[in-house]
Amino acid sequence: MQPLKSSTNLLKPAAAGGKQAQGKARDKEEPVTLRQDAGKAAGTSAGPAENAKRWTIDDFEIGKPLGKGKFGNVYLAREKSSRFIVALKVLFKSQLQQSNVEHQLRREVEIQAHLRHPNILRLYGYFYDKEKVYLILEYAAKGELYKELVKCNHFDEPTSATYILSLARALHYCHTKHVIHRDIKPENLLVGLNGELKISDFGWSVHAPSNRRRTLCGTLDYLPPEMVEGKEHSTAVDNWSLGVLTYEFLFGGPPFEAPGHQDTYKRIVRVDLKFPDWPEVSEEAKSFIRRLLTKDAAKRLPLTEVENDPWIRVNASPEMLRKGAEGSA
Ligand code: ATP
Ligand code: MG
Repeated sequence: MQPLKSSTNLLKPAAAGGKQAQGKARDKEEPVTLRQDAGKAAGTSAGPAENAKRWTIDDFEIGKPLGKGKFGNVYLAREKSSRFIVALKVLFKSQLQQSNVEHQLRREVEIQAHLRHPNILRLYGYFYDKEKVYLILEYAAKGELYKELVKCNHFDEPTSATYILSLARALHYCHTKHVIHRDIKPENLLVGLNGELKISDFGWSVHAPSNRRRTLCGTLDYLPPEMVEGKEHSTAVDNWSLGVLTYEFLFGGPPFEAPGHQDTYKRIVRVDLKFPDWPEVSEEAKSFIRRLLTKDAAKRLPLTEVENDPWIRVNASPEMLRKGAEGSA
């Protein structure tokens, strides 16, 4: 095992010029707006107050555990001076280093700290001590969408369309910032107090195509043909995942599920899309899914067109549709 690096190396603040985004960077895919200090990201309208603050664990009261992740735990917490409620994700450096994911974490922090959208989980800042890295996250009061989906089996069309429209807007926003999420699945979606979706987990976003090794280790279910085949890919990978997610919301499972990796792979590459007889789902919904699950990435429904799709127009909540019309997605 590698000896521990000093804490300053593990998560060097981006104030140093965002140098940590270097490495074998693909300029094309590098986010352009990620050059400020992520540690200062707090202090804006909806976050714990104070600018340019260097946080420490003593600034927080720790509450109940919210969940367990691969590299540590997440706790409900309250910033002492502002009483602002957050979710504090505590990661163990030793585990991060063992799995060689420090670079990925830096990337995740840089990206998430600079995205501002109602359907993207805010990362207000981070700090670290000798053993741990702490991420100060927006608290998603209703927890994981995945649990909700398992409980209900599948969502009805209005619920699905409303979720999908909000996701399309959030992903479009990411794409305008040159960020590709690449890991859209129910496990990475949290739900806010008012039932709004929050995309989290930017760990695999904006990775170079050469990183496909890892991608192939995880679940293939949400990946488009060009990615499972290891070809060049673009923002349209997220459009595909949105189609997979629509299917999963409506039918309760992903469309290309198969007993083994190899079978899933084949079904994705062939776009072997079948709709079960039950639950009953409208033709408009199926055609919306087909518009996204198109093999040719260039022909997939653009995210800006999602709100004009007939299925979305009929099913998404009027409030959500209105938000778009007002340009306040
Ligand atoms: P990883 O992100 O390392 O792949 P993971 O997604 O399994 O792992 P975490 O993101 O660390 O785990 O989160 C663990 C659990 O804690 C989540 O599944 C969720 O239930 C809860 N959780 C995480 N972040 C928040 C948050 N901001 N608000 C509410 N609950 C959260
Ligand atoms: Mg996670």
